[in-house]
Amino acid sequence: PHPTAARRPHQIVVESENATFSDDYITSKYTDRGADVVVVNGQYIVKPTARSYEFQTQRKVSKTGYASPHPNICHRIYTDALRSSSRLMMIGIGGNNGTTLAATVLANRHNIVWHTKSGIQQPNYIGSVLRASTIRLGVDPITGKDVNIPLGDVLPMVHPNDLVLGGWDISGLPLDKAMARAEVLPWDLQRQLIGHMGNLGKPLPSIYYPDFIAANQEARADNLILGNDKQVHLEKLRADIREFRSANDLDRVIVFWTANTERYSDIIPGVNDTANNLLNAIKNSHSEVSPSTLFAVAAILEGEPFINGAPQNTFVPGVIELAGRKRAFIGGDDLKSGQTKLKSVFAEFLVNAGIKPLAISSYNHLGNNDGRNLSAEAQFKSKEISKSSVVDDMVDANRLLYKPPVPGAKGKDAKGEHPDHIVVIKYVPAVGDSKRAIDEYYSEIFCGGRSTINIFNECEDSLLATPLILDLTILAELLTRVKYRDATAGEIEFSSLHPVLSLLSYMLKAPLVKPGTDVVNSLGRQRNALETFLKACLGLEGSTDLLLKSRIW
Ligand code: NAD
Repeated sequence: PHPTAARRPHQIVVESENATFSDDYITSKYTDRGADVVVVNGQYIVKPTARSYEFQTQRKVSKTGYASPHPNICHRIYTDALRSSSRLMMIGIGGNNGTTLAATVLANRHNIVWHTKSGIQQPNYIGSVLRASTIRLGVDPITGKDVNIPLGDVLPMVHPNDLVLGGWDISGLPLDKAMARAEVLPWDLQRQLIGHMGNLGKPLPSIYYPDFIAANQEARADNLILGNDKQVHLEKLRADIREFRSANDLDRVIVFWTANTERYSDIIPGVNDTANNLLNAIKNSHSEVSPSTLFAVAAILEGEPFINGAPQNTFVPGVIELAGRKRAFIGGDDLKSGQTKLKSVFAEFLVNAGIKPLAISSYNHLGNNDGRNLSAEAQFKSKEISKSSVVDDMVDANRLLYKPPVPGAKGKDAKGEHPDHIVVIKYVPAVGDSKRAIDEYYSEIFCGGRSTINIFNECEDSLLATPLILDLTILAELLTRVKYRDATAGEIEFSSLHPVLSLLSYMLKAPLVKPGTDVVNSLGRQRNALETFLKACLGLEGSTDLLLKSRIW
């Protein structure tokens, strides 16, 4: 197999008093260092802080379920810590992302190669930060050279080939035909996957509330859970999750929204503002409870992680409260695949270079079904919101370039100065899944000068999105196995992490964070957080680029 698809057992042993390894757990000590800063009469009074934590990561030696050639039978094998019994249930499995993910996992699992005009192509996991990027673990003491390992090898994680795949779609087209409808993968690969995809069968029937997605999707909706009773719908979705779990003897099901972008839900006091109100609203089949919110509630009540790969506000306040109450994990929103990923690097580069972006203008056109759905105003609005806040934290962190908010002011001044930022999306059927993104960065430079940088980016949308869905799934599964205790506070019991998995932010356009904490959009900072966390679980210090030895005699 391609190096990014290779299966490697967990091979790290840390020889330190900060880490202990047993068959079941890796337990580590970590000191979280920071600084409290108080400003007194213009002077910054800084007090370094340190708090001790312990992490416990379950290594998970367990049975593995993998999809068998027969749809409803799942073989079980006993295996090492690397393999885990996890199932990915995608809502929207019959769409471009859903079918591309299923097809490429199957191609990797069965090592199916295909012919292109430039030769033979091997399946791989390029684009997955876990499978295809590396982390600097340390230095070889003899050669002085860096030792880099795949990011996904730092802790025991599920191999994407082992994910059991399933899910729902309002379109009942069997997955082999849905793959053809998506027009993403080359024919010679599709041809060889028809049997494998056909074995996955038809998506499970789903819930369709026409008001939430574009009217132009109606013709697809032929595979529905009938009736209008949302409580009955909720029970059916919960039963689906339970059935998937028990049919394959799995202990974890990740529920992932990769269905059409919905319009925003109104936040209505008494309806979706608290967990109890939301559960009542479902009982009363309130019209403002969206399908994605219902799926999120179903996953939470089943104790399974739910991830939202689309931009709408699935996580209304009642969902977040419910996740906290049930200690279930949630992550979102919207996959950060192309234009926004670049923006979260490029805008930070400009601002950190002391250059002042005055306007960021982004245009997209695409011709897949996602583009078709986004051509409706309400659904476009959801995407516009999720794409728009990506530079906020960088601007907030540099009030030398941008005027700070004026206390007590109204309107623009209350928020502080901000670059102009527009997002346009147009549906152009002819380009299919190959999305075009054009961005202009118009900035102020030295002494009144101006800089204009234009970026034109062309890429197959679903081939960018699929590795992110895998990374999100694999990381979410890992994070359900990590527990912590605050040693400084003398805690004895290990607790699970906060239900809002903000460590997933690297892959998300509008990261959901623990209420009351700041959103970090910068891709560099998001990656650093992830690296530092994974290393902390091994009792290692975070990544630093100080490289002191190279600076001193
Ligand atoms: P798609 O239109 O090809 O697939 C969506 C699927 O969801 C369709 O098969 C549709 O029938 C199904 N669906 C709609 N409502 C449903 C419901 N209530 N229950 C079950 N199934 C339902 O779109 P796609 O290109 O696969 O993208 C999926 C989502 O991911 C979109 O919301 C898109 O905005 C988001 N996204 C995609 C990318 C990317 O790069 N491809 C990036 C960020 C976000």
